[in-house]
Amino acid sequence: MTDTAPDAAPRAATSATFTTRSPATGEPLAEHPVDGPEEVARAVIRAREAQVAWAALPAARRREHLLRWKRVLAAELDTVARTIAEETGKPAGDAELEVVLTLEHLGWAARNADRVLRGRRVRTGLFTVHQRASLVHRPLGVVGVIGPWNYPCYTPMGSVGYALAAGNAVVLKPSELTPATGTLLAELFGRAVPAHAGLLATVTGAAATGEALARSEVDKLAFTGSPGTARRVMAVCAETLTPFLAECGGKDAVIVTADADLDAAADAIVWGALSNAGQTCAGVERVYAVRGIHAALCERVVERAGALRPGADGDADYGPMTLPGQLATVERHVTAAVSAGARALLGGPESVRAPYVAPVVLTGVPEDAAAMTEETFGPVVAVNAVADVDEAVARANDSRYALGAAVFCGNRRTGAAIAARLRAGAVSVNSVLGFAAVPALPFGGSRDSGFGRIHGAEGLRAFTAVQSTTVQRFTPPIALTSFEVPAAARQRAVRLARTLHLRR
Ligand code: NAD
Repeated sequence: MTDTAPDAAPRAATSATFTTRSPATGEPLAEHPVDGPEEVARAVIRAREAQVAWAALPAARRREHLLRWKRVLAAELDTVARTIAEETGKPAGDAELEVVLTLEHLGWAARNADRVLRGRRVRTGLFTVHQRASLVHRPLGVVGVIGPWNYPCYTPMGSVGYALAAGNAVVLKPSELTPATGTLLAELFGRAVPAHAGLLATVTGAAATGEALARSEVDKLAFTGSPGTARRVMAVCAETLTPFLAECGGKDAVIVTADADLDAAADAIVWGALSNAGQTCAGVERVYAVRGIHAALCERVVERAGALRPGADGDADYGPMTLPGQLATVERHVTAAVSAGARALLGGPESVRAPYVAPVVLTGVPEDAAAMTEETFGPVVAVNAVADVDEAVARANDSRYALGAAVFCGNRRTGAAIAARLRAGAVSVNSVLGFAAVPALPFGGSRDSGFGRIHGAEGLRAFTAVQSTTVQRFTPPIALTSFEVPAAARQRAVRLARTLHLRR
C-alpha cells in the first residue's frame, strides 16, 4: 500500500479573528481566525477523506510516520516550548518538560498501537465450536479534540497522538488562550508527514468553535477542561449520540504517614502544588498529615514554598495566572478559608497580586470550605492534620473530584495498600504525579473529574470500536439458528446445557 496525498489545501480564512495576549504583560501575541460551523465542517470533511488512506496503511507505516513527527517535534522542541511559554506564561523549563513528556507519550503510542489493537482470536463456547471467533479494534474515523490552556501541548496530545496511532484523523480545537501551540503541532505534523497532512487539522476560536466541533458529527469528542464545560459539551454530543470522553479537573489529596520521609514529602508537595502556578488538573491541593508529624511537615512545606517566587523573568519559579479570571477564584478560596478559621502559614489573600499569586500555605482549613471542595487552580495548598491514616483516606475520598492522589509512607508496601483505598484514577506513592509521565499508564478520573481514559493501552482503545467476527468452519450437527432444527434436537441441547451449567 502506498501513501496517497489527501486534499491538504489550507483552510479558508474567516474574516473574524481574535487576539491572544501574554498573561504576564497583557501585550498582544497574535491574531487567530474565529472558525465557525462552516470552517469546522470543512476541516472535518477533509479529515474524513484523509483518514481513509491513513487507516488503510499497514500499521508499521503509520508507526514510521508518527515517529517522524516525534523527531520533528524533538528537533523543534525549543520553538514548541517557546510558544507554550509565551501563551501560558509558564517558565521555559516547565514548557520544555511539557514537550519532553509529550514526546514520551507520542513515541509509546506509535510503537504500541499495533500490539494493543491487533486482531485476536477468542475461544468459542459449547454451542459455537463450529465457529472461529475473533475481534479487532477498528479506528472510529474522525476524532474531535477540545483542549485546555494549562498544558496546551501535553494534554491535547494525550488524545491527539493516541487517536492518530489508532488510525483516526483528528480535528483539534485548542483553548482560545493557546491557539498557536495547537496550530504549531498540526503544522509540524504536516511537515513530518506531508502525504497525510490533512489528517490533523486545527480549528481556532472559543466556546462557539468548540460547540461547532461537538455538533460536527465527529465520531468521538475528547474533551479536556472544567466539569461545567464538560456538561455543556456532553449535552450537545447527546443530540447526535456522539461518544464523549471527559478529562476534567481535580482536587488531589496527598496523605503523609507518620514514618514518611518528610523532606521528600515536603519537596514533592510544594512542587505538586505550586509548579505551573498551581494550574495543574492533578496538582496537589489538599494534604492530610497524621498529627504526630503535621507540624514538622508544615514547617518544611512553608520553608520551601517561602523560597519560591512567581514572575516573568528567567529566575522566577513559576509564572502568572494564565486565565485572568482565576485570580478572583483563588482570592475567594483563600479569603473564605481564613474567615472560616484556617490559619495562613504562608501568604494569604494579599498574595493575590495580578497577574501573579505568591505561594499560600494554609492549615486547619474546614473541610467544607471552598478551598477544600472546589478546584482552586492556583499556588495554594492546604495542609490539614488528621488523627490517623483511616481519617486521611476518608477525607481524601470525600470529594466531588476523583482524579489523582499521592501517598508518602516509609514502607512502600503499606503505601501501595493505602493507595488502593483511595478513590482516584491514579495514585503515586512517594512521589507526586508519577503516573502522568508513564505512557503505558492510563490517565483519567471519575465523578466531576470526568470519565474515560487517555494514555496507555486503554487510551489507544478509547479511539477505536471493537468489531467482533465469527467465521463458520463447518455445519454443526445441531444448528440452533435454523427453523429446520427438530424439536427433539433442540430439547436435547437445552438438557445438555442445563446439566453442564448446574455443575460448573
Ligand atoms: P474550560 O472548560 O474553560 O475550556 C476547555 C475547552 O473547552 C476550551 O478549549 C474552551 O474553548 C472549550 N469550550 C468552552 N465552552 C465550550 C462549549 N460550550 N462548547 C464547546 N467547547 C467549549 O477549561 P480551561 O479553563 O481551558 O481548562 C482548565 C480546566 O481543565 C481545569 O478544570 C483543569 O483541571 C482541567 N484539565 C484537566 C486535565 C485532565 O487531563 N483531567 C488536564 C488539563 C486541564
